Amino acid sequence: MSKKLVWFRQDLRVKDNPALHHAAKSGEVICVYIEAKKQREQHHEARAKVGLIYDSLLLLREDLNKLNIPLHIMTCDYFDEQRALIKELIKDKDADALFFNNEYPINELERDRGVEKELGADGIDVNRFHGDMALEPNQVKNKQGDPYRVFTPYKKAWIEVHKTAPIEPISIPDKQNANIGEQITEDFSQDYRQDLWPPGEQAALERVDKFLDKVDQYKSKRDIPSVAGTSCISPYLAIGAISSKQCIHALLNHYDGEEQKLYGNTWFSELVWREFYRQVLIDNPQLTKHKPFNTDAKEVWVDNQEAFDAWKEGKTGFPIIDAAMRQLNQTGWMHNRLRMNAAMFLNKLCLVDWRSGERYFMETLIDGDFASNNGGWQWCSSTGADGAPYFRIMSPLSQSQRFDPEGEFIRKLVPELKDLDKKSIHNPSSEQRQEAGYPEPIIDYKESRKRALELLG
Ligand SMILES: Cc1cc2nc3c(=O)[nH]c(=O)nc-3n(C[C@H](O)[C@H](O)[C@H](O)COP(=O)(O)OP(=O)(O)OC[C@H]3O[C@@H](n4cnc5c(N)ncnc54)[C@H](O)[C@@H]3O)c2cc1C
Repeated sequence: MSKKLVWFRQDLRVKDNPALHHAAKSGEVICVYIEAKKQREQHHEARAKVGLIYDSLLLLREDLNKLNIPLHIMTCDYFDEQRALIKELIKDKDADALFFNNEYPINELERDRGVEKELGADGIDVNRFHGDMALEPNQVKNKQGDPYRVFTPYKKAWIEVHKTAPIEPISIPDKQNANIGEQITEDFSQDYRQDLWPPGEQAALERVDKFLDKVDQYKSKRDIPSVAGTSCISPYLAIGAISSKQCIHALLNHYDGEEQKLYGNTWFSELVWREFYRQVLIDNPQLTKHKPFNTDAKEVWVDNQEAFDAWKEGKTGFPIIDAAMRQLNQTGWMHNRLRMNAAMFLNKLCLVDWRSGERYFMETLIDGDFASNNGGWQWCSSTGADGAPYFRIMSPLSQSQRFDPEGEFIRKLVPELKDLDKKSIHNPSSEQRQEAGYPEPIIDYKESRKRALELLG
């Protein structure tokens, strides 16, 4: 039987994996994952994410081995070398076809075009699939066939497509009648908070299952950082240990197949935001070159290294911002409400270029994902697709009072303030700051807001 090589990338799962599924239907499958270490550094991706990937791969191998499918774990420096390694493996294993699921950032697209061209010239059949979005890219267009630039109509159109073509996750392949043989293992493990982010597909599926028990409270709790009101599934989506299709389908099952309940659900909406930002990236590859989506938006950023450093360290003197940044630094993840607050603080109030913040998030987040991170930063800086209006500037004080009213979240992450009462914890007096060893605010909020409105308007 002819052999098929499946190239795993950001799709580290056995279930709902189109490339794996279709390869297994057409022959004996061998799998490979190749970590391009220096390329990943160039993309500023966090070590924590790499750690989660490596550990998830070891579990993926166990799952594949149960199906008698081998998984080789290899490393190289850059994408170019991946191409050479794939060619070698194909030759070495006597395979006649390559299968993989698409990735959309520009370097990945160029790499894949190169692989397709080179292997095609050698007579190797290259098969590409879409496994990263619940609906295929370009399925959701407006009546003129143009891409949407605004979320709400995109979501409406998404729902219309879904109604006519419901999504169904793909099953796992059947057990092969083959020997696993020796498997290459090149270690690229990294430390990360495994206590918070247990690796692997099973952990991801269990997380969604558990979250669905409380999904009806999501709308009311999702903005409160002191409670576990969101799914925390983003790191697993980022490495493809679970697909957005599986999440949406699980939610639909939770509602016994009642589509109206699915479409009205807030968690569903957030998953569609993820789809939207991916589609925006596919339609606007210039975004991967640090370009703003909205080229008319004003970009008035200044060099403010001191503010940037204080922000990164969680020492801005704004307790909610510092709590957010410390959550990021300590766990590799930050609550969505705080991502917006932290981003607007750095970009609009300190006037630091959103690209610096985007990069720091990418370097630190275990769920670092180019499309969502770039989308989030450009939304906050009002340069993005359906971005916030330029005058939307979240006040760290009122956001803190509103979303962390008892100061519980601040107390946990900024322990030097833990003894303050719920009123002063949001903005301690100079005396309280001195006593706690906590810095004075690095900016005057009112002044900074006024300056931002003048410059951005
Ligand atoms: C400045 C900024 C940077 C961000 N960077 C990233 C990033 O690098 N990676 C990332 O996955 N998300 C990013 N987000 C989006 C969002 O903050 C996270 O997806 C969310 O906090 C993850 O937690 P969760 O899994 O508990 O989300 P839930 O609230 O449970 O939502 C479920 C899923 O929906 C998707 N989702 C939710 N909100 C958004 C959103 N605003 N945009 C796109 N998708 C969304 C995510 O895949 C998320 O896992 C960013 C947002 C902002 C404002």
